[in-house]
Amino acid sequence: MPSDFIRDIINEHNKTGRFGGRVHTRFPPEPNGYLHIGHAKSICLNFGIAAEYSGLCNLRFDDTNPTREEVEYVESIIENVRWLGFDWGDRLFYASDYFEQMYESAVQLIKAGKAYVDDSSADEIREGRGTLTEPGRESPYRNRSVEENLDLFQRMKAGEFPDGARVLRAKVDMASPNLNMRDPVMYRILHAEHHRTGNKWCIYPMYDWAHGLEDSIERITHSICTLEFEDHRPLYDWFLDELGAYHPQQIEFARLALSYTVMSKRKLRQLVEKGRVRGWDDPRMPTLSGLRRGGYTPESIRSFCERVGVAKTDSTIDIALLEHCIREDLNKRAPRVMAVLKPLRVVIDNYPEEQVEELEAVNNPEDPGMGTRKVPFSRVLYIERDDFMERPPKEFFRLAPGREVRLRYAYIIKCIDVVKGKTGEAVELHCTYDPETRSGAAGSSRKVKGTIHWVSAAHALEAEARLYDRLFTVEDPGAADDFESVLNPNSLQIVTGYVEPSMRGAVPGSKYQFERLGYFCVDEKDSSAGRLVFNRTVGLRDTWAKIAKKL
Ligand code: ATP
Ligand code: MG
Repeated sequence: MPSDFIRDIINEHNKTGRFGGRVHTRFPPEPNGYLHIGHAKSICLNFGIAAEYSGLCNLRFDDTNPTREEVEYVESIIENVRWLGFDWGDRLFYASDYFEQMYESAVQLIKAGKAYVDDSSADEIREGRGTLTEPGRESPYRNRSVEENLDLFQRMKAGEFPDGARVLRAKVDMASPNLNMRDPVMYRILHAEHHRTGNKWCIYPMYDWAHGLEDSIERITHSICTLEFEDHRPLYDWFLDELGAYHPQQIEFARLALSYTVMSKRKLRQLVEKGRVRGWDDPRMPTLSGLRRGGYTPESIRSFCERVGVAKTDSTIDIALLEHCIREDLNKRAPRVMAVLKPLRVVIDNYPEEQVEELEAVNNPEDPGMGTRKVPFSRVLYIERDDFMERPPKEFFRLAPGREVRLRYAYIIKCIDVVKGKTGEAVELHCTYDPETRSGAAGSSRKVKGTIHWVSAAHALEAEARLYDRLFTVEDPGAADDFESVLNPNSLQIVTGYVEPSMRGAVPGSKYQFERLGYFCVDEKDSSAGRLVFNRTVGLRDTWAKIAKKL
């Protein structure tokens, strides 16, 4: 079991018996966007802790803001959490289901003289709040009678007033050094339709008021949230203490930030709405839907979150670590295949015209249990354009005029002629093969320095490959004045190439290593029986392993 400051707090509570040994957490997304890798950290933490302590974790939609929330987001969140591998049993809740209870609790505070209706405008309230160096000013409506407050609040609820006319505020302390305690707004008037409660409500609770109540109603023990809520904890505690309600412990940890990406839902939504990416599930997005579509596995994301751990100070994690985690997972599991994505035609002049040999290829050298398959070899092949150079430097160990190279699982070939196109580029190579050098056969021991992959032209299947690169050109795009200005213009390159015939009927979502090229998955949306489309999940070069070695 990992150990960190959160688990230390829980262990202490279990020792003192504060929650009777119970551990009950929750993951409370606001359904106003798709989940991203930062949310995954919170999900793994909350569900992980619950599992470790034989406790429970609720999935709760914090849907207190009617204007930005949509059913599409609710559905995607449910699917994403399940895909990550977590189960909330029958405990799927909506904050909006507690609106009535929240209203009753607000009435309780009014009756206790701890909340009041304020007719000030939003600007007046903001001004009256003061600053870090100046105390706030008390509102002229602060000392209304309980009766008047009850009457006005009830009429706010009944829809008598327009948006913004009045708010309900907690009566805490306008001189508090903590700005959150200076009579925070609890309810605002908003004549808007809610995705679940329709037009039943025209007053909506603010986050600080609602969240602790939601936790209390669900009898959460540990309310784990991100660091920016640390200054809100006194208010969280104040509300529940004033109500005399069941009182969970709020614990804050540092949110996850990743290099070369943005994580705010607002920014991600902007990219989608402006068509900068192909949707929320575009593999360049740090969303769980995007990572999944791009070929990431739940296991790799869970392993990433575990390695990142929890901390009390914000930091940015190198995206190379995430890529390392998926490579590590796929290296064990993904079958190897040969694919040529930027094809160059090769004719083997001394290979018999009609002959086809079925050569044996290993499915995964990391796992002999995955067996072997047959790959057809014939007179006309495709190799990777980059594996040929007409005037190579000395260290180039691939194909060049007069030079030899081994074709993986097949023969050593030698380039004897180059056919050129109009602009002088190679369009076809003529080679000879050495029949004595078939891989695995007796007498095949002759060695050459380079081995390249290939496919048989007559047998290969055409395939589209989407080659993704980082979405941004800078490490911290959030720091740019306009984050769209640092988008990587070359973050997607689409090529048409060929894959070996064993890929016929490849199942959408299935994952492969294209030898020497990287890990690819069959696109879940655009691939079909008649059309193969692959997403490159990640290349083979592990920059993280290099970084880790230096550390
Ligand atoms: P955003 O700022 O991207 O809109 P949010 O915090 O408003 O995110 P919520 O839907 O409110 O999004 O988040 C649900 C839960 O996920 C919260 O408990 C929040 O603390 C947690 N969370 C959100 N972003 C991160 C992150 N980058 N790292 C860790 N936890 C996060
Ligand atoms: Mg939020």
